[in-house]
Amino acid sequence: MQPHTPAEAIERVSNEIKRMGSTPHLSTGQFRTVIGAVGEEGTLDPQHLASLEGVEKVVPIMKPSKLASREFHEDDTVDTIGGGKSLFGTPSPEVKVGGTHAVSIAGPCAVENEQMLTKIARHVRDAGATVLRGGVYKPRTSPYSFQGHGEPAMKWMRATGDELGMPICVEVMDTRQVELMEKYVDCFQIGARNMQNFDLLREVGKTRKAVLLKRGLAATVKDWLLSAEYVLSQGNRKVILCERGIKTFEDSIRYTLDITSIPVAAQLSHLPLVIDPSHAAGKRDFVGAIALAGMAAGAHGTIIEVHYNPSEAQCDGPQALLPETFKALMGKLKAIAAVTGKEFVEAGELVG
Ligand code: PEP
Ligand code: MN
Repeated sequence: MQPHTPAEAIERVSNEIKRMGSTPHLSTGQFRTVIGAVGEEGTLDPQHLASLEGVEKVVPIMKPSKLASREFHEDDTVDTIGGGKSLFGTPSPEVKVGGTHAVSIAGPCAVENEQMLTKIARHVRDAGATVLRGGVYKPRTSPYSFQGHGEPAMKWMRATGDELGMPICVEVMDTRQVELMEKYVDCFQIGARNMQNFDLLREVGKTRKAVLLKRGLAATVKDWLLSAEYVLSQGNRKVILCERGIKTFEDSIRYTLDITSIPVAAQLSHLPLVIDPSHAAGKRDFVGAIALAGMAAGAHGTIIEVHYNPSEAQCDGPQALLPETFKALMGKLKAIAAVTGKEFVEAGELVG
């Protein structure tokens, strides 16, 4: 739309887009509003749209992903995790990620019990993490491995997050879990194995909670952005991409963190991107180097697994960092972030 177009004209164009069978998505910038018209191909009449009052130009976005693309939203998106009141009535801090804001998400792979969770959460918070992670439904290769404690573990996550002032990020594995989890969590994690579970993407897209979308083990950047599009097209703008390593022929590590995907995704998309060096490495010795490289390549933060007794961990012990190692790494990550014009957010602002 032309700069300073009145709201009524924007609404008229939005209504016209709806009448033609598409959905309008507004991106309000400093000077102008961009209206994304998303629907099935061939249903819109660009010439008609161009003739409407206030329309400056009509640009067909040729990229497969539309709402995730830089064409739709030129500036980096800054998403928020948390905010509002938690299920237990405690104000949940709001943590920013994207643009110049880097986030540190950390915690155990799986929530094993309340005591271990509280202990690890205190360690990671004291080291500078602002969002707490912890799995309650675990996607395990074997059905006989520990599958997570489900709802009780979600309660422990919520209570610990509330106590320490940290929003919580928890993996959702199934559409049937979304309704219950929405009450507890601040951020849904979509695991690598579910990146193309389109029903699940649509379902979290209907909520207004942040969504950490991991890249699939064998997905291209294009596939990954199209998965983000599933969430965005339902009206949920809070998508955070997460590069967690892809399958390559290299077998000295678990997966290969695709450093190149960081600038590639940043060129194609305005969405924030964090890296998960823990699942890429699979071994704690390599987590630090990969994390630093990812930040240097422009990531907006990290999600890292930490355990004070990794040999006893029920899941992913070999890749868990000891609390003191995590603390030392956070110091280095902050320094690298500064070089790329980013800053790790301090404890979140209280909202609610
Ligand atoms: C996890 O975060 O614990 C996890 C299972 O991650 P991914 O989906 O990347 O394997
Ligand atoms: Mn894990």
